[in-house]
Amino acid sequence: MTSLALPATDDLLSRARASLTRIGVVVPEGDDLQARTPITGEDLFGLKGTTDADAEAAVAAAHEAFLAWRSTPAPRRGELVRRFGELVREHRSDLADLITLEAGKIRAEALGEVQEMIDIADYAVGLSRQLYGRVIASERAGHRMAETWHPLGVVGIISAFNFPAAVWSWNTTVALVCGDTVVWKPSELTTLIALACDRLLTQAAEEVGAPVNIHRVLIGGRELGEKLVDDPRVALVSATGSTRMGRAVGPRVAARFGRVLLELGGNNAAIVTPSADLDLTLPAVVFAAAGTAGQRCTALRRLIVHRDIVDELLPRLTAAYERLPIGDPFADTTLVGPLISTAPLDAMRDALARVTEDGGKVLVGGGRVETDAAGAAYVQPAVVRIDAQSPVVREETFAPILYVLTYDTLEEAIALQNDVPQGLSSSIFTRDQREAEVFMSAVGSDCGMVNVNVGTSGAEIGGAFGGEKETGGGRACGSDAWHAYMRRTTNVVNYSAEVALAQNISFL
Ligand code: NAD
Repeated sequence: MTSLALPATDDLLSRARASLTRIGVVVPEGDDLQARTPITGEDLFGLKGTTDADAEAAVAAAHEAFLAWRSTPAPRRGELVRRFGELVREHRSDLADLITLEAGKIRAEALGEVQEMIDIADYAVGLSRQLYGRVIASERAGHRMAETWHPLGVVGIISAFNFPAAVWSWNTTVALVCGDTVVWKPSELTTLIALACDRLLTQAAEEVGAPVNIHRVLIGGRELGEKLVDDPRVALVSATGSTRMGRAVGPRVAARFGRVLLELGGNNAAIVTPSADLDLTLPAVVFAAAGTAGQRCTALRRLIVHRDIVDELLPRLTAAYERLPIGDPFADTTLVGPLISTAPLDAMRDALARVTEDGGKVLVGGGRVETDAAGAAYVQPAVVRIDAQSPVVREETFAPILYVLTYDTLEEAIALQNDVPQGLSSSIFTRDQREAEVFMSAVGSDCGMVNVNVGTSGAEIGGAFGGEKETGGGRACGSDAWHAYMRRTTNVVNYSAEVALAQNISFL
C-alpha cells in the first residue's frame, strides 16, 4: 500500500500564521504547551499557558464586567453579538482553516462549523429582544403575578476538541445576550482557534463599546477547568466533553450550589426498518458514522437493522465504506481526515479486539492508513457485525466504528437503542408513520434528540441540543435553552388596597 501524501508541517504552520495574523491574534508564544496539528501529528507553536494568578484575575475581571453588563439593555447586548457575527462572516475562511489545522476536520465540515457560529449569533441577536417572562393568574383579587428573567453572572465554559468553535459560540452568544459574562477554558488541543474566537469577540466588544472583560480565555489543561468548577463567582459551569469529565465536574459544582450544564458523551443508534428508503438511508448513515472520522458526540455508533433487509443493506454499506477517501483534510476530495491523535487509534484497536473476542466480525476497515508522519493517525472507518450489545458496544469509543445489530420487532429495536448508558441522539429510517410515531413517543427513544429519516449527527441550532442519562441532561442552543443562562424571579404585585394572603389564610 502506498503511503498517504500529506502536506509539510512547515506549510501548515505558515497557513496557521497567515490566518491568525488576518484575524489579529498575537500568539502568546512560550513553552508551557504546544499547539499541534493532527494532519501531520506535529507541533506548530509553543504557547504560554494561563497561570493560576492569571486565571484568578480573569474570573475577577469577568465578574466586574458582569456588574456593568447586566444593566445594559438586552437589545444593546445583542448589538455586540451582531458585530461578532459579522466578523465571523468576514473571517469565515480563516476560522475554518484553523479548525481544519487543529481539529483535523475536512474543509466542508470546518466551514459548516463556522456557519453554525454565524447561525447561533443571528439567533442570539433575535433572542436579545425576546427574553420573555410569563404572566400567571393570581389566586388573589387585585394581584398580578409574573416571572422575570435576570442575568446570572459569570459563565464558565469548558469545551471539547471536536467542536472547538461552535460549542463555545452556542454558549457564549446566548450567555452574552442574557447579560452574563464568560470565561472560557477550551480544549488544550485546540488553543489557536480559541485565541481566534476570543480576538474576534474582543474586537466586537471594542467596536460597540462593551466592557472588554465580558470574555476571557484560559489557555491550558484540565486544572484551569477545575478553577472554574470551584470558583463561587462562576454562577454556571457549562461543560462539554467526555462523561468521565462530567462525572468529575458535576458533583464539584453542585457541592458549592453552582449551576451546571453538562453536554457529555453519546452512543447513538439508528434503526433501519423494512420500509426504509435505502437510497436515503445509506448516505445519511455513512455521513453520521464516518464523517468527522467518527469524532462527533452525535456520531452514529450502532446501526440496528431489521433482519429482513440486513443482507441488502450491508453490502451497499461496506461498498460505500471501501470508497471513502481518507487523507489530508484540506484536499477537496477527502471525506475522512485524521483522528485527533494516536490515543483514539489505540482506543479503536482495543475496541475492535474486544468486540472480536465477543463474537463480532469486522466487515470492512479498522486498519491504520500508512503515512510518513509517525504522530498522525489516519484510519479506515470500520463496520462490525455483532449479535449482541456486549460491553464494548455500550461504551463510547471516540473513533469511526459502526456496530451493526439486527432485530425482529420494533419493540426489540427500541429496547436495543435505549440499552446504553448514554442518551444523546437517535434515528429511525422508515416510511411507516406508525413506527415513526412510536419511536418519538414516550415508549420510544430515550434520547434528547430523536430523528426520523435524518442521521444522528448534524443538529440545527434552532432546537435545544443535548441528551439524557450519562450525556448529562444539559440543553444548549435554541428553543428555551437560554433559561439556563438566566435566573428566574417570581414577582407578585398587590395593586388592591387590601391585604390578601395566599391560601385564604387569615392573620390579625
Ligand atoms: P475531555 O472530557 O477529555 O475534555 C473536555 C474538556 O474538559 C477539555 O477542555 C478538558 O481540559 C476539560 N477537562 C477534563 N477533565 C476535567 C476536569 N476534571 N475538570 C475540569 N475540566 C476538565 O473530552 P474531549 O476528548 O476533548 O472531547 C470528546 C468528548 O466530548 C466525547 O466524549 C464527546 O462525545 C464529548 N462531546 C460532547 C458534546 C455534547 O454536546 N454532548 C459535544 C462535543 C463533544
